[in-house]
Amino acid sequence: MQPVTPNTAPVPMPLPAFLPEAPSAQARAILEPAREVPVVAEADVAVFGGGPAGVMAAVAAARAGARVVLVERHAHFGGMACAANVNIWHQLWSPNYETKIIGGLAEEILLRLETMNAVRKHGPNGRGHYVICTESAKLAFDDMVLGSGVKVLLHTWLAGAVRGPGGNLEAAIVENKSGRGAIRANVFIDTTGDADLCARAGAPTQTGGQDRKCQPPTLCFRVGGIDGEKARAAGVHNTVIQRELFRGTMDYNGGKYPTFLWGAKSVWIDDEQMLAGTRVPGVDCSDARDFTRAEIEARYQMRWVLEKLRAFPGYEKIHLVDIGGQIGVRETRRIRGEYAVQEHELLEGVRFEDTIAQGVYPVDIHNPDGPGITFRNLDGTEKIVDGSGHQTVRRWDGRAADAPKRETPCYCVPYRSLIPQGLTNVLTAGRCIASTHEAAGALRVMINAMSFGHAAGAAGAMASARHDGQVRKVDAQVLREHLKREGVPLLQTARELEPAAV
Ligand SMILES: Cc1cc2nc3c(=O)[nH]c(=O)nc-3n(C[C@H](O)[C@H](O)[C@H](O)COP(=O)(O)OP(=O)(O)OC[C@H]3O[C@@H](n4cnc5c(N)ncnc54)[C@H](O)[C@@H]3O)c2cc1C
Repeated sequence: MQPVTPNTAPVPMPLPAFLPEAPSAQARAILEPAREVPVVAEADVAVFGGGPAGVMAAVAAARAGARVVLVERHAHFGGMACAANVNIWHQLWSPNYETKIIGGLAEEILLRLETMNAVRKHGPNGRGHYVICTESAKLAFDDMVLGSGVKVLLHTWLAGAVRGPGGNLEAAIVENKSGRGAIRANVFIDTTGDADLCARAGAPTQTGGQDRKCQPPTLCFRVGGIDGEKARAAGVHNTVIQRELFRGTMDYNGGKYPTFLWGAKSVWIDDEQMLAGTRVPGVDCSDARDFTRAEIEARYQMRWVLEKLRAFPGYEKIHLVDIGGQIGVRETRRIRGEYAVQEHELLEGVRFEDTIAQGVYPVDIHNPDGPGITFRNLDGTEKIVDGSGHQTVRRWDGRAADAPKRETPCYCVPYRSLIPQGLTNVLTAGRCIASTHEAAGALRVMINAMSFGHAAGAAGAMASARHDGQVRKVDAQVLREHLKREGVPLLQTARELEPAAV
């Protein structure tokens, strides 16, 4: 039976202090005694972080013949999709829906979800974005990982790194219920999203933009009991809701609603929606205190939003279905790599000789300081939405608003951007690859993360097969051919496009 009363408690006021007090000057640090750590796993390729990038890295490496261990801190794989309720995957096709841009393992998991009736396709001929059932995705990720022979450790945190001579990583240190352990491998892949492994190994990283500000995290929650027909008849949709919420001040901190509100209807249940309805500005979720603050504040914000939502026609009887197991993290640390992808290279569709992945999702930057969002699209347009939902559309390329749209089919990502400076046998994939803050606004989405994972896993297996694990010695052309054989539709490079010399 549908609950007819809200199943959330009102926001208690005021928000009590909840972070541990700063330690006294005498208690700033202790010396941890040296201790022997058992080796708990050995592999050709060890992957840390089982999100979209990590799963595909592990699967690709295993299918290329490597012995693979995949380490994940949660109880399941899928990263932000499965732990944070993020249920939209973006399109595999060019903006005009004519050219396939993304395939390989990213496409494979979508096909698996399709056979489970766990995905809803949008756009012409189903070539637009996908809404997925994030619970079914946990099962699909399991099947891909286990079906490829990957060995796994769940509930296990990457906690440290042991470097050998010359930038070679000898072991990664993990912590779990059994205590502390070491994992040895020829090649290590950092898919933690936060570049945890590279940071622990002392490789240079950067956080957020030039001012170190990160795109804000968002707690995504699901609400049920929406009367969609009534809401539609009353003209209520997310922009209207956001505009109304922005008018007042939030009760738990007196601030303005700092969000770009969006959501997606569940694949299965008509009256249910995932709402990306919170935002906590001014935090860096690779910092434990900030991460904690973000979780708590976002839940308070969500309670305020739920109370307000009930005033809208069609939303009177909504109830909370679930809250993401963690706040969704958009941006923290990225590696400083052999090459950092720039925003203009993406928007102009620059082709690299060592392109290993392609994408089409726009540069999408949630304002780090408060409400608002900016999208820059491959077609030359830029859309800026402010806190009240007001939209400004103009061109990012300086051309007149009515100039013809650009026809860039996709952007390209070079192999070098997966390689962290200062380490010889480590690769990265997912949202922590080397790029600027602006370029990361496009690269960070899951379809892209999976493509980078596919490439990193295949490259990791190749580097491991060389025995020295040197990732810089992987031949990018051989890697490209390998990926193409696995269904990754890589366009020709600029050199390949040149007319043959006569
Ligand atoms: C609110 C929100 C909405 C978004 N909307 C979309 C969207 O609509 N579509 C889209 O495609 N993308 C969206 N994104 C972006 C996308 O979800 C992430 O950028 C993407 O998940 C990145 O993939 P990843 O594999 O690099 O990292 P993650 O998904 O973050 O996965 C990292 C994995 O590593 C694990 N991990 C981290 N640290 C450790 C450690 N020390 N030890 C062990 N395990 C560790 C984590 O538990 C996690 O499973 C959104 C993000 C947010 C936050």
